[in-house]
Amino acid sequence: MDDKRAPSGFPNVLRKLGAMTAIRDTHLVEQSLLRTLGPLLGVLDTSFYRADEKGNLISALHHSLKVVLKGEARSTVENVEEITNVRDIPETLMSLFDSVRVLGKSCSSKIEGDLHICYPIRSQGELVAFFIFRREKEVTPVEDAIIHGVLEVFTNYFALLDTSQRDQLTGLLNRYSLESNLDRLWNLISARRHLAADGNNKRSPSTETYWLGVLDIDHFKKVNDTYGHIIGDEVLILTSNLLKASLRQSDLLYRYGGEEFVAVIAANDLESATRVFERARSKIEQFQVPQVGRVTISGGFCSADPTVLPKEVLNRADSALYAAKDAGRNRVYFYDTLIIEGILKAPGSGSIELF
Ligand code: GH3
Ligand code: MG
Ligand code: MG
Repeated sequence: MDDKRAPSGFPNVLRKLGAMTAIRDTHLVEQSLLRTLGPLLGVLDTSFYRADEKGNLISALHHSLKVVLKGEARSTVENVEEITNVRDIPETLMSLFDSVRVLGKSCSSKIEGDLHICYPIRSQGELVAFFIFRREKEVTPVEDAIIHGVLEVFTNYFALLDTSQRDQLTGLLNRYSLESNLDRLWNLISARRHLAADGNNKRSPSTETYWLGVLDIDHFKKVNDTYGHIIGDEVLILTSNLLKASLRQSDLLYRYGGEEFVAVIAANDLESATRVFERARSKIEQFQVPQVGRVTISGGFCSADPTVLPKEVLNRADSALYAAKDAGRNRVYFYDTLIIEGILKAPGSGSIELF
């Protein structure tokens, strides 16, 4: 794309921005951002790398357009690839991200003969992601202004969306967020499984699986009744923080109900998953809550099996939680063990297998 064409892109930008802000899902907004900026900059491949609070890369979204020629007719085919755990990033790309982080502004670097241009994306002053694309030429001042403008609208809108997906008291993701993202999460888990089964993806070791746990504070009503709602709220905040600290940054933690939490974690096997949930339970048990003393949680978990409907997986974890409550609380149970031991009945015709 040359300089003269950039200003004519403006109405298009506005139209695309309108479409972008009409979307209510954070991930679709990210896709829309790439869909907006790619054609505007005259590039076919654009990427969005998300970073955690420590600056580690956690996931990537790649967007590409392929021009297909059929006789005289030209059409474009769109491809969107989402990678949930970013590993094996080339050193050269990592050092470009580092330069952007250190300098706090866009940078470019020649990698294997291609010019890579990278912009930082911030939210409330923190660097949260990188926007990156390849091109032959450096961006012009006009293009630079357009990219900054689009990224600013994007971050403001994204922050608003993020607020609507979070619980106000604990700052965790809320029930709405879980319910609106479960299907997408299941698709991702399923895609990662297929990639791993093909054995052609170095980034996704075939052993990695996901687990869903439902965790609930024991006798929480008694805390409220004895110490009042304000102390009750503090217990909720402390419990959330302890749970968050027990999980990895890339794991997902939701406040599902009043004193109930849902965690979706990645762990290589049952033993590792058990260790994670046990660690969370024990961390809370050991913590002395000011005025209240010891607070405990119970939990139930099962494999986040992408061939079973997510609602059914939630039900399974929930029934394991109730078995843990029945057995005396302050413990975490694995659903399959309860089935094998005959404590719970295997789901009958009520469960629907997807494939
Ligand atoms: P169990 O061990 O069986 O889970 O017993 P429980 O007392 O924890 O469970 P129950 O469902 O009987 O009570 C949950 C209580 O949580 C009742 C409700 O008042 C309280 N609660 C729900 N949301 C909030 C909140 O945001 N703040 C406070 N302080 N309390 C809440
Ligand atoms: Mg409870
Ligand atoms: Mg409860």
